[in-house]
Amino acid sequence: LPGDPAAGAAIKATDRAHVFHPWAAQGRIDPLAVAGAEGSYFWDHDGNRYLDFSSGLVFTNIGYQHPKVVAAIQEQAGRLATFAPGFAVEARAEAARLIAERTPGDLDKIFFTNGGAEAVENAVRLARLHTGRTKVLSAYRSYHGATTTAIHLTGDPRRWPSDQGAAGVVHFWAPYLYRSPFHATSEEQECERALAHLEDTIVFEGPGTIAAIVLETVPGTAGIMVPPPGYLPGVRALCDRYGIVLVLDEVMAGFGRTGRWFAAEHFDVVPDLLTFAKGVNSGYVPLGGVAISAEIAAGFEDRPYPGGLTYSGHPLACAAAVATITAMAEEGVVEHAARIGADVIGPGLRELAARHPSVGEVRGLGMFWALELVRDRDTREPLVPYNAAGEAAAPMAAFAAACRKAGLWPFVNMNRTHVVPPCTITEEEAKEGLAALDAALSVADTYTTG
Ligand code: PLP
Repeated sequence: LPGDPAAGAAIKATDRAHVFHPWAAQGRIDPLAVAGAEGSYFWDHDGNRYLDFSSGLVFTNIGYQHPKVVAAIQEQAGRLATFAPGFAVEARAEAARLIAERTPGDLDKIFFTNGGAEAVENAVRLARLHTGRTKVLSAYRSYHGATTTAIHLTGDPRRWPSDQGAAGVVHFWAPYLYRSPFHATSEEQECERALAHLEDTIVFEGPGTIAAIVLETVPGTAGIMVPPPGYLPGVRALCDRYGIVLVLDEVMAGFGRTGRWFAAEHFDVVPDLLTFAKGVNSGYVPLGGVAISAEIAAGFEDRPYPGGLTYSGHPLACAAAVATITAMAEEGVVEHAARIGADVIGPGLRELAARHPSVGEVRGLGMFWALELVRDRDTREPLVPYNAAGEAAAPMAAFAAACRKAGLWPFVNMNRTHVVPPCTITEEEAKEGLAALDAALSVADTYTTG
């Protein structure tokens, strides 16, 4: 593996001197110095290679250093590296066309941002302008980004330190049968009760005050809870009944992650607005956006849209999106993700669950899976408490360390590990990752009490 321990140490020293890392206690982190990456793997300067079961932060859907995407960025850089957003630029127009071709229904106009949080901010702005209402509903178990509106919409504890009061956001409970907020015992019951709870929330908040419901089609960071089949159609019907804009956040679930271009396809639901980022160009250059329905877009034919960004639709990012989407289509990456998920990863994880008492539940689809780790399968007590830190989080830290020791880079959140490799992962690589998980779960098993 190309790498140089002295160079790695120097990079790390400079990083620690000057880089202020997101979400981190700066004095307590020890970031790995990366030497390179290709396909499903990356490596450090000390000769360690990792199979990336996290796809970075769930964004390298096409894997690292895809030659066609790298070449497209280089070509665009040589031709027109940047241009202001108010102009018609080939890469931008083409990226918008390719995205609009794949988004569900009549979501055919694309507003580009630099990432997911800005996409959510602009979706909420569009919904507020469209309805003339201000309130927005979102799920407790959610992550929507770290800018002001997006972090308020977010339900996970990362919201707490930034909470400035409600900011017009009201949270509700979405379906999650394994830890049902509704004490349901079947998917049908969970679905019915979740919809009744959402309607109660709408009625008690005042339907005429609610601009939007913002939901991850399949909640990602919060635990990959694939909703029961009737839930999203039910939410769509409530939005229609009360004149509320439905925003589906597909920043994580979109662009092949669930084995479809967009997760909404699994449920036959067409939102009014759809947010995307990450997989749109596998994060090679920052890009996100909002796909806008014909009706909402029509509202801005004669009045200006009051929002914008200097780098909206940046040519390098859009060239990367064009190349990514084209390569994914040519190489059948979305179908491949569906097949490897259904035939290799899903069955492989269930087989691990059968042998490891620390696995409470396996759930997911495509390249989007979660293992819920527990102390006791009967009580479902999580392996670490909700929002655990320090010593209380030690069992998950030990599990993650065991994964890395086995050559696997895991995605870990609270008491869960998510299996979210690149959508291009081969069957052999997937099996290699499952074997590493097998070893690491034996460490998690030592903390079980059931
Ligand atoms: N929405 C969802 C569903 C996400 O998973 C994320 C990031 O993980 C975001 C929004 C925020 O995206 P970004 O970090 O690009 O701002």
